Amino acid sequence: MSHWTPRQAAMLGAMGLRLWNPPAPGDEEPAPPALPRARERLAPAAAPGRSTAPRRTTAPAASPVQAASPVAVTRLPGLDWAELRNAVASCRACGLCESRTQTVFGTGHPQAHWMVVGEAPGEQEDLQGEPFVGASGQLLDRMLAALNLTRAADGPEPPSQRVFISNTLKCRPPRNRNPSAAEMAQCEPYLVRQIELLQPRLILAMGRFAVQALLRSAEPIGKLRGRVHRYQGVPLVVTYHPAYLLRNQPDKARAWEDLCLAAEVAEGGVAPPG
Ligand code: URA
Repeated sequence: MSHWTPRQAAMLGAMGLRLWNPPAPGDEEPAPPALPRARERLAPAAAPGRSTAPRRTTAPAASPVQAASPVAVTRLPGLDWAELRNAVASCRACGLCESRTQTVFGTGHPQAHWMVVGEAPGEQEDLQGEPFVGASGQLLDRMLAALNLTRAADGPEPPSQRVFISNTLKCRPPRNRNPSAAEMAQCEPYLVRQIELLQPRLILAMGRFAVQALLRSAEPIGKLRGRVHRYQGVPLVVTYHPAYLLRNQPDKARAWEDLCLAAEVAEGGVAPPG
């Protein structure tokens, strides 16, 4: 990429990026293993506006005293934010509940226009209960700040400048190993319900596991980025995971392009495919 505007060049600087020649193809995040199709998918997202789904008054099936595995998480229709947060906190649907310090629900304003989806909590996230607080989170925050976006749930910013950050998995895999297909399938209804409640204008899927969960695609990130996809009617832009960017600096320029595309979509400047 060689044609940065002065504003873009300034933002690249804010992200700690230098301008360089594009890297040779091949240094890409590897393709993920195949994920089985979800048992159930939600109905297409409603038109813009906030959820009108009826509130459920009972808590979901999971109980803190149940052993891991037998409780399959299926659809969670009708749960509001608080109920969903409780359901996640008490989830014992897979073995990750045995090793987690705490669940990591996600963070941000419940009416944020942007939703960022990552992979899974790491060590710091597991300890602090918040997504993306380690080194990759600091990079993510700089990238968001370059676009004048914030993960803060309070403050004066309008929803258009707010991001809700979540992960494909709500619990840390031991030693930060990759999520298994079974763990992703068990955890998926939580992410699905978060998207349904938030009704974001734009989803930014970061890394191969977010892509796998949301697009059911094992294509490399490099093949999926640069265009607008849809998830249940919501425009979705694919980009590299910040942890990958920390190891592969040259792809930061591509990530910046992805963020610019996402911003255009979120602001209504790019019409996603029908
Ligand atoms: N990586 C992720 O994908 N999510 C986090 O919350 C932290 C690191």
